[in-house]
Amino acid sequence: MKKRHFSIVLLIAPAFFVVAQTASAQDPASRPKTAASQPAIAPLPAEYKAIVERIAVHTQAGTDGYRKLSELCDTIGNRLSGSANLERAVEWAVATLKKDGHENVRTDPVEVVKWVRGRESLEMIEPRPTKLHMLGLGGSVATPPEGITAEVLAVPNQDALQELGERARGKIVLFDVPMPVENAERGAGYGTSARYRVMGARWASELGAAAVLVRSATTHSLRTPHTGAMNYFDAKARIPAASVTVEDAAMISRLQAAGHTVRVTLKMEARTEEKLAPSANVIAELRGRERPDEIVVIGGHLDSWDVGQGAQDDGAGCIMAMEALNVLRKLDLQPRRTIRVVLFTNEENGLAGGKAYAAKYADALSMHAAAIESDSGGGAFRGYSASVKDESERPACLARLEQVAGLLGPAGSVNAELGGGGADISPMGPAGVPMLGHRVDMTHYFDIHHTEADTVDKIDPRELDKNIAGLAATAYILADMPGRLGEPDWRRNR
Ligand SMILES: [Zn+2]
Repeated sequence: MKKRHFSIVLLIAPAFFVVAQTASAQDPASRPKTAASQPAIAPLPAEYKAIVERIAVHTQAGTDGYRKLSELCDTIGNRLSGSANLERAVEWAVATLKKDGHENVRTDPVEVVKWVRGRESLEMIEPRPTKLHMLGLGGSVATPPEGITAEVLAVPNQDALQELGERARGKIVLFDVPMPVENAERGAGYGTSARYRVMGARWASELGAAAVLVRSATTHSLRTPHTGAMNYFDAKARIPAASVTVEDAAMISRLQAAGHTVRVTLKMEARTEEKLAPSANVIAELRGRERPDEIVVIGGHLDSWDVGQGAQDDGAGCIMAMEALNVLRKLDLQPRRTIRVVLFTNEENGLAGGKAYAAKYADALSMHAAAIESDSGGGAFRGYSASVKDESERPACLARLEQVAGLLGPAGSVNAELGGGGADISPMGPAGVPMLGHRVDMTHYFDIHHTEADTVDKIDPRELDKNIAGLAATAYILADMPGRLGEPDWRRNR
């Protein structure tokens, strides 16, 4: 997500889906009050409690989600923008959504950047010859065919890089920056690490470095390198950039501290094609029974990096949206407004899909009641965070979301600490669309993020089903409730 205007978070107890255990959702004394000021708003329609329970019972028996995720990941695999795999995934999604009987299944064409990894390797030459484990960073340029052989200088932060000054010229700079330890709410300290991945090549090139290596963005490593996007921005010199494993980065730093000169050879064939490649956002709908022109978007991104299977990032999020729509249709739950699944393209290295959606539907964004993105993996369901642009809408929005949280579980609460939304839906934020981020336990998210280890077996089928239920229930309520989320005069529509 780009900019957070305001944020609230619904925290939902693990007991969410123990159907029998339902403290009164309408009883304000049963849940903690953390919001500073709440407008007096009418309760949600009483029938929602039974509807949420129907969804929970239905999904407890098992959904088609895990089968779909396995089919996507095992028969198509990873899905980098511009790749044949992503084109096949778009075709697969269209066919699957049509087979499930949804309405207005279609593709919106989007042109995307095509970066190709090519062959790549990293060998340590001194003080002992050995292969190191690496992944080129998305957007990187190639090395010359013979590679770049140079001394490595490891630095623990940006200040240490600046202290190198002229010593960095012609060297390979290694940013050996450990990722801060994760917690279940926020995941790991991804922003800190990702900053070095994105900016490192530009910073090192300013000192005349020949190439840059960055320590992988993870706190638990089994010598698995993590890729991800980098950017040269306005750098005068474009130098190759690659990630190395936590283990190899730490070894290089130890060798350097012990007085050894570390020399490596980096070879990369990476290139960005001059022409953009055709791709598409995939769309399907459950049309609203009363106000079909008002839209609740649910979605994730269909593209992934070119390693692993893109199961967690973001196959799981796409499946949650697809299957939530399927569950509602199977249960014959047709809300007032339309629920629209959007599977965005090119989130990982461009955000062209999210930008194209906001541009194509610019005139209709005022009719978007909410947008929910699932792009945090398949961990245990934790509810939603939210961002609302309009200050005047926030109090009513906060109070409404507290009510929704109350329906989802007895310990639903609201706090104002975390931002909400997701990268793909963020271009809708400036138009005032309330943006919700589907939240899960992220304790282990960054263990496999952007790696060869992001495979289907890492996703727990039962947790996937619970996430599908949570998304289906939330999307239904937001699409069906009498007034739209955050609507200042929502009482008018009761
Ligand atoms: Zn993602």
